[in-house]
Amino acid sequence: MKKLVAVLVISACTASVFAQQQPVQQQPQPPRWSPASTEWYTPVPPKVQPGVGAKPPSDAIVLFDGTDMSKWESSKTPERGSRREAAPWKIVNGEMRIVPGSGGIQTKEYFGDCQLHIEFKSPPAENYNGQNRGNSGVFLQNTYEVQVLDGDNNPTYVNGMVGSIYKQSAPLVNAYTKNGEWQVYDIYWKAPKFDSNGLVEPAMITVVMNGIVIQNNFILKGDTPYTGLPTYTPHGRLPLSLQDHGTEVAFRNIWIRNL
Ligand code: MG
Repeated sequence: MKKLVAVLVISACTASVFAQQQPVQQQPQPPRWSPASTEWYTPVPPKVQPGVGAKPPSDAIVLFDGTDMSKWESSKTPERGSRREAAPWKIVNGEMRIVPGSGGIQTKEYFGDCQLHIEFKSPPAENYNGQNRGNSGVFLQNTYEVQVLDGDNNPTYVNGMVGSIYKQSAPLVNAYTKNGEWQVYDIYWKAPKFDSNGLVEPAMITVVMNGIVIQNNFILKGDTPYTGLPTYTPHGRLPLSLQDHGTEVAFRNIWIRNL
């Protein structure tokens, strides 16, 4: 016991002497913040007039306003040496309607990151069901499909229902209203990024349907094929395209903003 006390006393003395020998350390001072230290004034964001009702924002590229399809062309690959054909769909009462069997359409302009507004209306259900009822699709960058389908009491595989990222992600909820009513998509798209070695950053999408978030920052696994697994193939900016899947789906109020 005496030995232990002696050891403790010696240790304490040594520590005390050692402590006295250390130079006095200056404690680092926290930075002196003022409110202004974390504020900046440039660049000033451009002023954009928000759209009211069905009107697009002032800086949007209007892709269809009910009058003409001049921003669109056929998705069909043209014959060698010839130009791409005009968009083969029709305009009826200010709506752009699919002409079944005529093929898809795509924008003449190419896009990357974007905000897209598009409205669609399914044709009468008749005797069609599942994937055959009101099928079309919004293809971001000609490659990645947000499914367009009649969602009014129309069971099908959920990763292929309306609002799905086709065969990758079912919507969080079914926000479709009724057959024959206009449905509104607002889509926020972050394009995938590639370098010479391939994929650097996958695509990400948020989809709002009729004001309800149905895809929340979903990270895509690649393209959206009918058969097989998704893969990425490097690309740059590409057109927005709309699918002809054999039914007379109508579209209106299509506008896009580059981000
Ligand atoms: Mg489709």
